Amino acid sequence: MKNLSFEQGPIRPPSEARSLLLRFTRNCNWNQCLFCPVYKGQPFSRRTVAEVKADIDTAAEMIDEIKAVSWKMGASGQVTQAVARHFFDRNVSQSYASVVAWLFHDTGSVFIQDANNLVLKTDPLVEMLEYLQERIQGISRITSYARSQTAARKTQDELDRIRQAGLNRIHVGMESGSDTVLKFMKKGVTAEAHIQAGRMIKAAGIELSEYWMPGLGGRAWWREHALESARVLSAVNPDFIRLRTLRVPEPIPLYQQVASGEFEPQSDDEVIEEIRLFIDHLEGITSFLASDHIMNLLQDVEGYLPRDKDFMLAAIDRYLDLEPDRRLHYRLGRRMGLYHGVADMTRFDLVARVDQTMDRLKTQYPGQIERIMTDLANQMI
Ligand code: SF4
Repeated sequence: MKNLSFEQGPIRPPSEARSLLLRFTRNCNWNQCLFCPVYKGQPFSRRTVAEVKADIDTAAEMIDEIKAVSWKMGASGQVTQAVARHFFDRNVSQSYASVVAWLFHDTGSVFIQDANNLVLKTDPLVEMLEYLQERIQGISRITSYARSQTAARKTQDELDRIRQAGLNRIHVGMESGSDTVLKFMKKGVTAEAHIQAGRMIKAAGIELSEYWMPGLGGRAWWREHALESARVLSAVNPDFIRLRTLRVPEPIPLYQQVASGEFEPQSDDEVIEEIRLFIDHLEGITSFLASDHIMNLLQDVEGYLPRDKDFMLAAIDRYLDLEPDRRLHYRLGRRMGLYHGVADMTRFDLVARVDQTMDRLKTQYPGQIERIMTDLANQMI
């Protein structure tokens, strides 16, 4: 067996954990957002059609090899646990292991990296997408990150072609619908461009997932951030609205503005009130709202709009109605990875573990519980 490998980028959305990762571009062509640590110091480049095709060929060769081994092991071409173990035990490359895992999970999903593949000219992008489906069978979904600013520069006809070539889901890091916040954070896009891009992507028949970042308005602009973001998303009606709460540990550029006092972050409780205001003002849309990111305090705030709006607001109110010491208890349980929502505080086994940890922390680090909570949350980035 040859030790095959192909290039993969550093990140993917949580919802693409079981997707095959293929890299069409490297890093981010904008790379200026103050809250984003991901590609800082890494130069952007477009990969050529030849490079991407070579990677697709390598992935296809891996798939052939894996299936051949499966047949030999009597698994009829399926990737069972035994077949997967066969490859993992042989120390295959990371990309090879990811193809084994992809076949094992059998999702049919591909995520193309990195931050903004719509920055590729339409002809080469279409050629890469078509080649991908020609060489690898059984792909049902191809997803990419994209910037609104870039999507809004494509014509509707170009987005239609890209959809026809197979790209059927786009994740946009909207982050905010407030022009004040977007400008301060150097996002390089306006609320209007978010609306235009979102509508064009949807008109092309591409499933649209918009990320909104609670906390990004800080104490100065939190209300505007919530209301303007709700206005923009209500104008777009994306298929998904995904929450990913701001954290500002030291490696993040925004840390400088926090240190200088230019940006004042909200407390956990203030962010939850902001999320409540935001959800309350989402109107006339049918999106699924997901809180599936580890940095969100209340993971159970999710559901379809408008059907589950009251349910989501009630989940938030359950938290806000807690006494301050119970909120602190919940926050610690969440940062320990034990709680997903306030309802988990009815589980005596979990409550006991959190209480024990709280007692220990208060004894060992008197008066420092808020700092510890911040450190724990920042470790999740
Ligand atoms: S556009 Fe996205 S990847 Fe690029 S710097 Fe901004 S948040 Fe980070």
